[in-house]
Amino acid sequence: MLNFPASITESDLRLAIVECGRIAYERHLMTSNDGNISARMENGHVLITPSGISKGRLNTDDMLIVDLDGNIISSRPDREPSSETPMHLEVYRQREDVRAVVHAHPIFATTLTVAGLEFPADVLPEVLLTLGNVPITAYATPSSHEDAEVIRPFIKDHNAILLRQHGSLTCGKNLDEALIHLERIEHVAEIYWRAKMLGEVKRVPPEAQARLIELREKSFKR
Ligand SMILES: [Zn+2]
Repeated sequence: MLNFPASITESDLRLAIVECGRIAYERHLMTSNDGNISARMENGHVLITPSGISKGRLNTDDMLIVDLDGNIISSRPDREPSSETPMHLEVYRQREDVRAVVHAHPIFATTLTVAGLEFPADVLPEVLLTLGNVPITAYATPSSHEDAEVIRPFIKDHNAILLRQHGSLTCGKNLDEALIHLERIEHVAEIYWRAKMLGEVKRVPPEAQARLIELREKSFKR
């Protein structure tokens, strides 16, 4: 259901967002009522989760529809669009290929930014092959337009970004891809943390890194 085509109906997209929220919440990638999820509809509008609601307990009629300028197209009187809507719209405006955006608060990946560490892009081959470097933005006040500003320089070339002392932003051609990127950054961040607890952190050998980067660049261009 999360691996949907561009021609998905609005009702199926609503179901996909509910499912994505449930998975992210149960995996502790979004705690409390943190995080937000959006998807691009076939007509170009964006379906987005409301503000102040747990993403683990969404209903299909909770989501709102906005256009790329942030104008509310469809809503309910008791719902406000996510306060992070400007950040989601920044992604859709810059990336025509993106149809889903997930902003989460993953524990280990966010901890890296609190500790002032760089993202460990070179410790696991699958990270080099799929994401490469994950940039960490400047600090921005959550729920303000600042979040859109700090991702602006990076989103053209990255499917995953960490927001300093806040969380993550991942995107893809559907919610499955955005969630896969989110799970991957959290997985490597946790392994890196555990390795640091044990002592030395080994990097992928430089020759192997070059090969993986070459393979990633080939698949990114396709
Ligand atoms: Zn947030």
